[in-house]
Amino acid sequence: KIFFWILLLNFQGVLTEAFAQEDSDKYIDTLIGKMTLSEKVGQMTQLTLEMVSKGDGYKMKSPHELDEAKLEDVLLRHHIGSILNCAGTPHTIEKWGGIINKIQEVAMKDRLQIPVLYGIDAIHGANYTIGATLYPQEIGLAASWNLELVEQAAALTAYETRASGIPWTFSPTLDLAVNPEWPRVWESFGEDPHLMAEMGVAMTKGFQGDDVAQKDRIAACLKHFVGYGAPKSGKDRSPAWIPERMMREYFLPPFQAAIDAGAKSIMINSGEVNGVPVHASKWLLTDILRDEMGFEGVAVTDWFDIWNLVERHAVAKDKRQAVKMAIDAGVDMSMVPLDLDFGPILISLVEDGEISMERIDLSVRRILKMKQELGLFENYKVVPGDYPAFASKKHQQVAFDLAAESITLLKNEAGFLPISKKSKILLCGPNANSMRPLNGGWSYSWQGDVTDQYAQEYHTIYEAFVNKFGKKNINLIEGVSYDMAASYDVDQWVNPEEITKAAEAVDYIVLCLGENSYTEKPGDLNDLSISANQRALAKVASATGKPVILVLTAGRPRVIHDIVSDIPAVLHTYLPGNYGADALSEILTGEVNPSGKLPYTYPRYTNDLVPYYHKVSEGLAHNDGNEYTEPFFNPQWEFGYGLSYTQFEYSNLEISSASMSRNGSLKITVEVKNVGKRAGKEVVQLYLSDLVATVSPSVKRLKRFQKIDLQPGASEKVVFKLEEKDLAFVGIDQQWVAETGTFKVCIGGESTQFELVESIK
Ligand code: BGC
Repeated sequence: KIFFWILLLNFQGVLTEAFAQEDSDKYIDTLIGKMTLSEKVGQMTQLTLEMVSKGDGYKMKSPHELDEAKLEDVLLRHHIGSILNCAGTPHTIEKWGGIINKIQEVAMKDRLQIPVLYGIDAIHGANYTIGATLYPQEIGLAASWNLELVEQAAALTAYETRASGIPWTFSPTLDLAVNPEWPRVWESFGEDPHLMAEMGVAMTKGFQGDDVAQKDRIAACLKHFVGYGAPKSGKDRSPAWIPERMMREYFLPPFQAAIDAGAKSIMINSGEVNGVPVHASKWLLTDILRDEMGFEGVAVTDWFDIWNLVERHAVAKDKRQAVKMAIDAGVDMSMVPLDLDFGPILISLVEDGEISMERIDLSVRRILKMKQELGLFENYKVVPGDYPAFASKKHQQVAFDLAAESITLLKNEAGFLPISKKSKILLCGPNANSMRPLNGGWSYSWQGDVTDQYAQEYHTIYEAFVNKFGKKNINLIEGVSYDMAASYDVDQWVNPEEITKAAEAVDYIVLCLGENSYTEKPGDLNDLSISANQRALAKVASATGKPVILVLTAGRPRVIHDIVSDIPAVLHTYLPGNYGADALSEILTGEVNPSGKLPYTYPRYTNDLVPYYHKVSEGLAHNDGNEYTEPFFNPQWEFGYGLSYTQFEYSNLEISSASMSRNGSLKITVEVKNVGKRAGKEVVQLYLSDLVATVSPSVKRLKRFQKIDLQPGASEKVVFKLEEKDLAFVGIDQQWVAETGTFKVCIGGESTQFELVESIK
């Protein structure tokens, strides 16, 4: 009987949901039925906040003020459906509330009362809101390999973004960063599709929760679909050449995983792939994204990118042709964002019969559905005081924990780390006493250069060290500093001669090198090596004879091979956010045991830029005997690498069967033991190699990972399950295929093999 009632209740649940869905679809259809063409194209238009603000010009520096007349023109005459970004300096949560509520108030004066969908780049916290919690940038999140914490950080970002009245973030970035020179590596989860997919899902779930209409959730936007992270030249927004097989096997899966997790929107790649700008690619935006991948949400352009089809890409002769191309390709919403030309052009294309009303309705339905799912039709205003946990201790703790779990110990040769709290330290380098490099771009401003927005409670490395080791134990002599008057990335010698003398009085030199923050094109590089001045500074430090600890704060792996051999200890912080320096100081003293692992291959040479999953032939060199046998893949440090203050021993790698049949699965078990004296976290990584395949296989691919926490002496059995689809690759006919044959599994230095067979007899 009970079983019957449970069944009935479940069935009713399904029915209620189905009716609710039907009701909401009807609501949207009725709304669309009432809309004029001009109202429809308004929904497909996104403008920047400056377009409704006093003053002119975007990236305004002055304090922001809404312009009532512009607001009415934009919302009531042009019926604009979406606004983005942050005008002027970052705003307080109260100011944001005022801006959003005013915009919605005006939108409600319009005939159909459709709320505006506001979007922003909340990419590592609500980073345009003063006082918001800033987490490590995505590359650091990836280095933590901690999915639970990443999901939590995204959920708290959602809370603080919604507290600012904004329901939509342009995050996560799922651009596979295969070229380490690219200036947006740090905005991504690195080079591996599996790690990226898992992280992307965690972040999407964290932003959106189970019901994105909840007042502490926001819609995610996966970007930049697709291939943006692979510019051939390494320069931002320059062409990528990606064979279809690679596109399907490496670039699409992270997007597919996040789409399957329910992501509400995607943003399109500004660049071109195989000679076709993605904004004009029907193949990518419709055939693949919609028909194959089943994405039903909103596809928004990137900044100015329909107009860019004219001059930057030279595939359209004028704006009209560009709009036609983009809409035909599958764009739903144009981030115009600086003029009002898009609407009238689109209207005339429909009136001239070049674009059908059905096509317009398709996009408008997606956009209205997203507004409805966000609950905006009922709750479009933000209520002051509704978000008491904004920047609370709990949020700060998660930011600290993520910084602590992402910082990666790459070298500890003499084993002198951790060091005592009584140590005397000479602190050098351009990153030693500035928040800007710790946070990277999109931090209270686009490039993170509004330094006065960093409140006193956040510490530079110098300040954190003073707190930890005592003021009298820390001597700060930068040696090299950024010449901000020239450019953010130009550094200059300041007082190197003082270093040699000052070193006499200390136990260690901590050298804070790397990059200053940059965003997009200004971060383009001509040389992946760390700057000449910083390399020279490292030589000065090493020559003192005092042990040097190198702290690399950078958003990509800057080459350091000519300085690193003299340096016994290296830590990579990536861009660890507001609490990065505090976390670093606790790692140095051993209060925190480092557990970060590289989310990218750290190249040794600037001409050696292949990912860990390179082909066999890329890993061999020509030797004298005319054979390709010498190992050549020789990075500074491998993807997945990172040390701990304790040691982990792997043993008893077991496989549930020596063969797997099609549609079958296997269990792989390994025992991990903490054989050192400290508690520590370890990322257990499973790599798979297909030994022989019709398309030359990668040397290995990450397929599973799990982060575990072990007390000294404790051990844990970690179990992974592999299925046939984990063995598959995209074959010569562009279809996924798993070929029978031998596969090798490696976990932490242990390995075993199994066969894929048609069926087990
Ligand atoms: C970036 C996007 C960002 C957009 C809106 C563009 O320049 O490429 O990642 O979301 O601006 O700020």
